[in-house]
Amino acid sequence: MDARKFTRYTAPEGLLRDRVILITGAGSGIGQALARAAAGLGATVILHGRSVRKLEALYDEIRAAGHPEPAIFPLDLARARGEDYDRLSGAIEEQWGRLDGLVQNAGILGSRTPIEHHDVAEWQRVLHVNLTAPFILCRCLLPLMFKSDDASVIFASSGVGRRGKAYWGAYAVSKFGVEGLNQVLADELENKPGIRVNAVNPGPTRTAMRAAAYPAEDPMQLKTPEEILGVYLYLLGPESRGTSGASFDAQ
Ligand code: NAP
Repeated sequence: MDARKFTRYTAPEGLLRDRVILITGAGSGIGQALARAAAGLGATVILHGRSVRKLEALYDEIRAAGHPEPAIFPLDLARARGEDYDRLSGAIEEQWGRLDGLVQNAGILGSRTPIEHHDVAEWQRVLHVNLTAPFILCRCLLPLMFKSDDASVIFASSGVGRRGKAYWGAYAVSKFGVEGLNQVLADELENKPGIRVNAVNPGPTRTAMRAAAYPAEDPMQLKTPEEILGVYLYLLGPESRGTSGASFDAQ
């Protein structure tokens, strides 16, 4: 597969028209840029995140641009309980009856620490938000994705989730887990051509998370979230039908 083809992918107008797409962590960074772009391509985006203020600002922006009316679903994935997930799937079922896209983008970094000294509670928190929450979201939303004619799940991976790197602790391990979840789920869905699941490593991107990980780096040398969206849009659109269980690099 020629990955470059997708990193340079230019989405045609209306690519995501009439698709209902849930993006987690849509309030900032890559998720925010993707939500804007998907709405501009005709999708109804369900904006998930922790901060209601950020989600409302994005909602207003998308409305003002004349794109399809988005929806907001604030939920702290570190604290969410079964009934919160049921509320999410129930709301989507009631309003649209299906889900065409699920971008599992939300994530936290934790601290860079040797395993020897890694705080146990932080380990559990990072694993929960970055890996267990995406699993729970799959579990509760897959039935709605089976009702779509052409559904796509995207997991957010990372370079340190493919090759372990010292001090990246729970974050790296969570991303290895995400790659595993992607492969296991894709294998289980092999006989369902209407749904695909893939993982995307964004690569170094100018966001708050990257700045926290590399405080000495000049962010202006990095690609912006808007510049790395090609692979995401390709995977959300109909041209990627049949591609599943793969790991992509956005850059
Ligand atoms: P970011 O700017 O820090 O955004 C992370 C998003 O996740 C925020 O919208 C945040 O919501 C949400 N989030 C965090 N914890 C949450 C929780 N407990 N419940 C609900 N939402 C939560 O990060 P980013 O750089 O855009 O990263 C997006 C994804 O790409 C992440 O999975 C990250 O691991 C991956 N990634 C990024 C890079 C990079 O260079 N930027 C490289 C490799 C992989 P609030 O803003 O509402 O708190």
